[in-house]
Amino acid sequence: MTRTKQTAIGQNGSVFSNSNPDSRAGRAAKSGARKRRIATRPTLVRRRRPVQQTSNRVPGENSTTHTKQTAIGQIGLVFSNSIPGPRAGGGAAKWVGFFESQFHAVRLNPPVQSAPHDNLDIPAVSSFINIYAMSARVSEAFVLQTWPFREADVVVSFFTRDHGKLRGVARRARRPKSGFGSGLERLSQIRMSYYQRENRELVNIDSCELVQSQFSVIHDFSAACALDFLAEVSEQLLPANEPGEKQFRLLATVLEHMRTAAPGAVWRAVTYFSLWTVKLAGLLPDMHVCLGCGGWLEDPEHPSRAFFSRFTSGLHCHDCRRDLHLNSAYEMSPESRLIAQEIFRSPIGQMTERPWTRATAADLRRFLAQQIESHIERRLVTVPVLEAAA
Ligand SMILES: [Zn+2]
Repeated sequence: MTRTKQTAIGQNGSVFSNSNPDSRAGRAAKSGARKRRIATRPTLVRRRRPVQQTSNRVPGENSTTHTKQTAIGQIGLVFSNSIPGPRAGGGAAKWVGFFESQFHAVRLNPPVQSAPHDNLDIPAVSSFINIYAMSARVSEAFVLQTWPFREADVVVSFFTRDHGKLRGVARRARRPKSGFGSGLERLSQIRMSYYQRENRELVNIDSCELVQSQFSVIHDFSAACALDFLAEVSEQLLPANEPGEKQFRLLATVLEHMRTAAPGAVWRAVTYFSLWTVKLAGLLPDMHVCLGCGGWLEDPEHPSRAFFSRFTSGLHCHDCRRDLHLNSAYEMSPESRLIAQEIFRSPIGQMTERPWTRATAADLRRFLAQQIESHIERRLVTVPVLEAAA
């Protein structure tokens, strides 16, 4: 607007500087200027009108804002009975925000039908915006499982640090030149970019950045089976959309220990993960007492044998096993019970050095797998494969 004014003054500057009516040069210049003004009259008139409207504005005030407020104030008066707007007492600034948001929403999502007129507190335009509101996030996550979807898409189940387990669609992830690369491999630690619409179960995955892959351990068959086991237990046991910071750190710690490739690291990691996962899920019964008679199993003078069965919960002493006719029960060795106590006391890297093999704490792992299976009401597919891996 200021530029328009300057331009108009610049064009007429020669007229006003030579405006002496007695001067021939002045008359010639005035005549020429009049012709030019007539030729460009529509443009000049249209552009100069806002300048005349804001003639009473305060010097130094932003002319654009002032004109906008005036114009919107007029529109607000006209449409005040037909559009649900801000409540009374808002002033011109409130109207500016309201109309800007309304015009923005209409431009992004053109309404199919006119906004309803009712007495709800929430304006129709506002709810219209909320339906289409999307929140973009970047979360640190582990990929748990993937399923092929449509022609080239993949449905990904991933466990985020801040929002728990989620599922989303990675579009064109199965194309050879997809941007996802190896980020969607099982148990890859990634930084996932996604956005979630309200009331939608599947999120839309934009991209993922690989933080740590597990490629260094999968040359070992037992380690590959262990990765399958960790992924399956996490997928089956973790609740959706529920943050689990401890579970996330547990998974990261166990995978880091497996990558050290120390002797027996696979079995130590699987046992450590199973016990803590069952504990964090709230599924671990008291391992110090017999659940049949309440007797103390850890008596140092008379250490009791402990038995467990798929059909009962927790551990039982020898007498209760006989009374309950638990003939198919397995015995948990005193060594495994000591290992369980140690797992709760110390980090996985600081556990007592002992030769870990597949047989070490195998009864404890069986006990924990039975606790998980009784909760999810199905068998874990990876357990027999893992325990058969030499
Ligand atoms: Zn008992």
